[in-house]
Parts: sequence; C-alpha cells; structure tokens
Amino acid sequence: MIKTDVIIIGAGLLGCFTARNLTRYDIDVIVLEKEGDVCRGISKANTGIIYSGYDHKPGSEKHKLCMQANEEFDRLCSELEVPFRRPGSLMISYGPKADAVIARKYRDGIEGGTQGLRLLSGSEAEAMEPALAKGITSALYSSETGTVDPWELCIAAYENARDNGARFVFGSRVTDVKRETGGFTVETKAETYFAKAVVNAAGLASDSIREMSENPLIRLFPTAADYIVLDRSAGSIVDRVIFHEGENGKGLTLVPTVDGNLLIGPTNREASEEETAEKDMRTCRYGLDQLKELCGEIVPEADLNRQIRTFGSLRPNPYYVSLRGGDVIKREDSIKDIRLTEEDGLFSLIGIKTPGLTFSNELGKIVADKAAAHAGKTELNPDFDPHRKAIIRARDLSEDERADLISRDSAYGEIVCSCMDVTKAEILQAIKRGAHDFESVKRRTGAGFGKCQGSRCRRRITDLIVKGE
Ligand SMILES: Cc1cc2nc3c(=O)[nH]c(=O)nc-3n(C[C@H](O)[C@H](O)[C@H](O)COP(=O)(O)OP(=O)(O)OC[C@H]3O[C@@H](n4cnc5c(N)ncnc54)[C@H](O)[C@@H]3O)c2cc1C
Repeated sequence: MIKTDVIIIGAGLLGCFTARNLTRYDIDVIVLEKEGDVCRGISKANTGIIYSGYDHKPGSEKHKLCMQANEEFDRLCSELEVPFRRPGSLMISYGPKADAVIARKYRDGIEGGTQGLRLLSGSEAEAMEPALAKGITSALYSSETGTVDPWELCIAAYENARDNGARFVFGSRVTDVKRETGGFTVETKAETYFAKAVVNAAGLASDSIREMSENPLIRLFPTAADYIVLDRSAGSIVDRVIFHEGENGKGLTLVPTVDGNLLIGPTNREASEEETAEKDMRTCRYGLDQLKELCGEIVPEADLNRQIRTFGSLRPNPYYVSLRGGDVIKREDSIKDIRLTEEDGLFSLIGIKTPGLTFSNELGKIVADKAAAHAGKTELNPDFDPHRKAIIRARDLSEDERADLISRDSAYGEIVCSCMDVTKAEILQAIKRGAHDFESVKRRTGAGFGKCQGSRCRRRITDLIVKGE
C-alpha cells in the first residue's frame, strides 16, 4: 500500500490547481487520473473565457471567486507563462426580452463591482463590431473579459505542481474509496493507496466518486454542448468576445481565441443516454446545424467553410437528491452556486460549471488549504516556486530572435507542423516534458491544430515520440 498525505482524484483544471496549491505546503500529494494525460475532461472542452463577474449574482461564492480570479489572471498567466488576452466582451440583444436581461446584468455588475462595464446603444455596438448583423437593440460592454487556451493553463498548472513535488499517476482509474480510521483507502486496478485526506476533482464522475464512501447528496444531470472552430483567417471577424443573448433561449457565443481562431458555440441541448452514461463528449448534427443557423443570423459574414474542427462537451449540472426507500429522488432546482462538500477529510468538487476555468486557481487554493489542514500539514514548503517556463514558440518570435535560437539549437530550424509553424525543437521539448502521444504533443505545442488538423504532421510527430529523433 502506498501512503500519502493527500490524494487528488482527477487531473483537470481543478485537480491540477489544487495540486499546485497543495505544494505550497510541505506535504506529500498524489494525483490519480484515469486518462493518459492531464486535461482530457471538461477542462479541454469549454469556451475558454475569463469572466469579469457581472454574470454572477453579487454576494454569491461564484461572484466573489470570479471577481478575485479575474483581477489575478494576468499575474497567474505571467507566473505560468500562459498566453492570455483581454479582448473585452460585448453582450448583444435584438429584442425586448434580451434587453431586459442586459439591463439586469449591468445593474448586477455595477452592484457587484465589475470594472469597465458600459451600457451601449445598438448603433454604438454595431460600430464597434461591424460584422454583427444590424438591428442590435442594446449591448453591454465589459473591458475585463479575457480568453485563454484552457488546456495550456491546465498543462502549466500540472507542470508547476509536478515541479514542486506533486506526483501524478496516469492511467489510474479510481474504483473505490473507503473511509478508514485516520483517512481513506483509495483503490485503482494496479494499486491501493492510503491518504489522510482526499480531494475529489473527478469532474463528470465526481458525484459517483463521492458516493463510494458517502450517501447520495448531489447528482449530476449533464446537458450537452457543441462547438465549431474556424481557422485563423476567420479569427479577426470580431475583435471581442460576443455573447448574443437570444430572445427565445440560448444565443450564440463567439470567441476570437488566443491562437487567432474563431470559436463558435456552445449549444445547450439534452444529452443522449449514451453521452450521459459514458460521459462521452461528442457533437451531434442537430447541435451543429443549430449553431450554423444562428451564426448565419448573427454574424452573416462568418465563412463556415473555414471550419477546421468541431467538438462537444457536457455540462455537469448539479442537483440535490434525497433517498426515499431505495430510490434516489432528484430535487427540482439545480444548484446555482459552488457547493463544496466536506466530509471529514473528503472534499468533493461536484458540478463546477462556468466560470470554473476562471477561478480554478482560487477554488484550488481553498480546497488545498482545507485538505492540508485536515492532513495536519500546514507548514509551508520553503522551496515552492510559483513559476513555470513555457516551451519557446518559434512562431511568436521576430526573425532575428528566431535566427538566434536556431544558431543555438538547429531543431528550431526544422518545421514539423507547417499549418501552425511548429518546429521540431518544440515537439522534442513537449516529449521531454511527458507528452507521449499525438494528442498530448498537440495540446502542448499547437501542432496539428491548424487547417489540415494533423494530416501532414501526425506521422512525423509519432516518429519523434517513438524514435526520439
Ligand atoms: C460547455 C462548457 C463551457 C464552459 N466554458 C467556460 C468558460 O468559458 N469559462 C470558465 O471559466 N469556465 C467554463 N466552463 C467551466 C470549466 O470548464 C470547468 O469548471 C472546469 O474545466 C472544471 O474542470 P474539472 O477539473 O472539474 O473537470 P475535468 O476537466 O472533467 O476533470 C476531471 C478529471 O477527472 C478524471 N476522472 C474521472 N473519473 C475518474 C476516476 N474514477 N479516477 C481517476 N480520474 C477520474 C477525468 O478523466 C478528468 O480528467 C465551461 C464548462 C462547460 C461544460
């Protein structure tokens, strides 16, 4: 049996940031992840927006954490060397119902202290974003909205936690958690662990992980989301994140990403039985058609022929449940705020939806502090270093900088992914840092994310993984 102070189940954003914050203490931490790499769950399949806070009820935990996180985001991304932009956002409406929502969000935002909010007329909004369909009736501008690649953030948190001493065990699906005197035994197929405290950050499986040792309290009832990504030639069609507030239900969100693509989505549709049972994040034709139709209405100039990929996600909607007889009964209203369950050493992050990416470091810190205190490990780690060095990207350098780099490392002179301008040196760095398949190299370097989606570089990258040269 392997003994440790804290086990974290799940290496998504919340698991990785909890691990990072735990390593601020002099503590032994193990992260168990069922997949072969970090960021394979919801954390890779979301809208990548750093919210400014006006969307959340003033006084709620979500609001408090979101405000704090937004203010801290530049510092966080500079510590972890993660690209981050604040293009600002524009919430737009085309009718009275949505106007009322915008007016309410503006009032909430002002009351809650969001900086940089402005109510705009339709013509002001149309002048700011000329590609949007005419007829906007009102808009809410927020200067502090940002965007980030969620997997880059997650990988950075992972690398920083690992460099500070957290141990990650991939391919380790947790099959049982049992309460024992002084802690928990945690089972995987290959190993039994004992930990004084357990952090359950298993995303879509967090309800079932909790129920391995506790009575049902909260269950997840997922709905599905679909996204479309357009290539970099379409990324500049809008300058800001656009939230279209629909008159009759969910509108459209457009995100000019840090990589220069345009992200369109998400839908909000019922998840199929298969999607729910297998926690399988996939797109469906109906969802994608809905997006395309909305896109035609709201941003008619967007050229959907420039689509390079689509992806799906699942929203972990949390509901309280109660036990009646042997049955689990779902209560009516979903849980709107963050509900961290704490049961004598078991800390469960169940149903952390938007803006969970925005405040992943802040929530991770709260849980880490609680878990460290429970494990009796509150002494600080004198060697903790919050900084992490990113892989140098040739495509971000000037010609002179690039030439200088090539003179020091000739592998920076060999392009492997021509769509995204990724060099052999970057791929080798990713492999050195633990990338072991095409997908994990792709997430670390951007190779394979371009127009051809890896059809030209996949083989070469696989060779580099297998042969090392
Ligand atoms: C459609 C959508 C859009 C969103 N957009 C935004 C946004 O724009 N901005 C924002 O701030 N937030 C957004 N969010 C919220 C944000 O994405 C999540 O809050 C965040 O990613 C939380 O991730 P997580 O770590 O809880 O889960 P995950 O990333 O799913 O991680 C859970 C991990 O646990 C692992 N696991 C599961 N079961 C086991 C097991 N038995 N043993 C071991 N490991 C296991 C999984 O493999 C997975 O890696 C969005 C969410 C959704 C669904």
